[in-house]
Amino acid sequence: MMLATDLDGTFLAGDPDNRQRLYQLISAHPGITLVFVTGRGLEVVVPLLSDPAIPQPDYIICDVGATVVDGKTLQPVYPVQSEIEARWPGEQLVLQTVAAFPGLERQQVPQQRRCSWFCEPDAVTDELRAAVEALDCDLLFSAGMYLDCLPRGVNKGSTLQRLVEHLDESLDDVLVAGDTLNDLSMYEQGFKGVCVGESELALLEATSDRAKVLHARLSGCGGILEAVSHFGFLGPLGVDSELRDLQIKGKADLVMVYHRLPYEEVEQDGKVIRRPPSSPNGILPTLLSFFAGDQQGSWVAWSIHDPRRREGFEVHTKVDAERYPNLVAARVALTKDDVDVFYKRFSKEAFWPTLHTFWERAVFREEDWAVFLKVNRLFAERTAAEAAQGAVVWLHDYNLWMVPAFLRPLRPDLNIAFFHHTYFPSADVFNVLPWRREIIGSLLQCDYIGFHIPRQSENFVDVVRGVAPLEVLEETGCAPRYLTYGCAVGLDRMATRINVHGREIGLGAHPVGLDVDRVQQVLDSDVCQEQISMLRKELEGIRVVLSVERLDYTKGTYAKLLAFEALLEAHPELIGKVSLITICVPAAREMTIYAELLGQIEQAVGRINGRFSRVGWTPVQFFYRAVPFDQLVAYYLMADVMWITPLRDGLNLVAKEYVATQGLCGGAGVLVLSEFAGAAAELHGALLTNPHDPHDLRDGLYIGLTLGKAEREARLRELFGIVQHNDIRRWGDEFLQAVRGVHREALEHSDEVA
Ligand code: UDP
Repeated sequence: MMLATDLDGTFLAGDPDNRQRLYQLISAHPGITLVFVTGRGLEVVVPLLSDPAIPQPDYIICDVGATVVDGKTLQPVYPVQSEIEARWPGEQLVLQTVAAFPGLERQQVPQQRRCSWFCEPDAVTDELRAAVEALDCDLLFSAGMYLDCLPRGVNKGSTLQRLVEHLDESLDDVLVAGDTLNDLSMYEQGFKGVCVGESELALLEATSDRAKVLHARLSGCGGILEAVSHFGFLGPLGVDSELRDLQIKGKADLVMVYHRLPYEEVEQDGKVIRRPPSSPNGILPTLLSFFAGDQQGSWVAWSIHDPRRREGFEVHTKVDAERYPNLVAARVALTKDDVDVFYKRFSKEAFWPTLHTFWERAVFREEDWAVFLKVNRLFAERTAAEAAQGAVVWLHDYNLWMVPAFLRPLRPDLNIAFFHHTYFPSADVFNVLPWRREIIGSLLQCDYIGFHIPRQSENFVDVVRGVAPLEVLEETGCAPRYLTYGCAVGLDRMATRINVHGREIGLGAHPVGLDVDRVQQVLDSDVCQEQISMLRKELEGIRVVLSVERLDYTKGTYAKLLAFEALLEAHPELIGKVSLITICVPAAREMTIYAELLGQIEQAVGRINGRFSRVGWTPVQFFYRAVPFDQLVAYYLMADVMWITPLRDGLNLVAKEYVATQGLCGGAGVLVLSEFAGAAAELHGALLTNPHDPHDLRDGLYIGLTLGKAEREARLRELFGIVQHNDIRRWGDEFLQAVRGVHREALEHSDEVA
């Protein structure tokens, strides 16, 4: 069967249930050739191609028949397109010819091989028709307001007819669907047809005596479904029996979808055993705490499954029967190869660099994308099976970008929320990704998307604008919580609600916070206290500048070392008095891209120490290892200046951990922070520095080292107030509140519309 359908008022219209039924039916039947036949220009059809809820067309006839392209490649279908092209006199000639006629307002939409205007019916005079005919063109007036000038004989019906011939399809296998007079030509070629409910009266009158045309009762997709059934297109069983009920619902009211399980799995004596996470800082405990109540919960994450293992794969496991009796982990079985490609290679090689604006470093492999899609689909299917009717699904970060695309068609009822933990760049950078349309199309299936700071959210809006028409429904000022013009990632206003393809999506800034009580517990611990006394002895008489980060080119470690060297050159009085302690957490061994960076860093450390060291004083102490959190806090306490200089960073938790430690101990340390870290937009009181500017980096540190006590204390008070108030609990609560609020509003809104 070939379904050739108009879009607006037809394939994109109708009751949401019927739309979904038709779209599922088409997806379930790859044998159906789908042709979009529309008055829109090609560029205005393209946004639909990134909407995973809409089946993808095999062909697109647009510009009211003047353009015909392959749905996948978007390349013209030759020779059908060439024949049309040959008959078009050119835009300028047409415009010159009609310039003398009043009442025509050019439509501000993309148009090729045709010209379109708005006009009143009486503007379409005989003189105008004659002038256009003299150019060997036709005029088509529809819906009482649209006027198109097309090459002679070209319309939706004639181009469809030529396409059907070109594809060697049988006339009888075609069903055409439309709702306005400019669809009329499709019904005049002898195809079976349906005028969907609420069609333009003139179309109904013009087709009333055509035996093969059904005037459907239901509007939009409902009408098309009626016709599929009426003409017996999918056999005697009819439509309904073809629609499998894919909606197997689960019990969880909240489903957390995170790449990691909330416990660690380690292999001992050939058996996999579970234990609590060894590094309990971070967001895991907070995310878990949302499952402490009575509501049923599920945590979807991957787990490596070796298909050669004798014992079967256990999908559901308990997480902590005592603390979270109503929570299960729902494990997605992945092979080690899948994990390596999906998580270690592709995410880190393609997405991580691009997201952090280092797109030149990105490597894109189509076969890796296929694995990424497969893994995301498995996550979506697992989630669909876990979630109860109307449940909140909370997805985390870019590894799971494509989950909404698979999940939404399976479960239209769900409240899908996404938190983007990693930096989100502007369109100039994001658009480098070969799969940008698919990714954005997927994210637009969410009800709510959160980012750390307004800038990242607006960057997302910027990217969406390049993919689909976007309407901002609500916006808000970013001050006073966030910096506006005071830092590189500041912004004064952000959109909080947008409409794309008729779907409303809430957006919000939610910088991840800290569990300040946990920092206090660590400070009180013996391990931390012992470390503090040891460091006090070792660092006596030395002012400490501390730097803590993973080995990563985004973190700006190398630029920082050069700036420190420049500082010692410019201020020799600091020699022997100030040391830079750099804690650099190694990257996983298989990530070879980091080896070169490590070499550079080690060389710089060697050079600086070689140049400036004195007996009893080393300018740079470089620790290339992960320091356990309870020891790290001791370093935070000892640091006079915390120097955090990422070239780009989603947030930066280390900055907040330093502030919390100093604040809890009544310290007066100085935070010198890159204005390119997300946290810079939130942490009023930090001294901001531009890590791309060697002078500013050097001078920023110097200012940090020479600030007076009163100013240091005042700055820290301001910083600590922010870190203490906007803690991790508030982050989670505010995010979930926003998610639930947006969904409730959307439901109320759809009730009003109904
Ligand atoms: N961290 C740690 N030991 C170290 C260095 C870092 O436990 O030796 C922790 C640190 O406490 C922080 C996290 O790693 O919680 C780093 O988070 P951040 O947001 O600063 O950077 P990311 O690594 O997420 O880019």
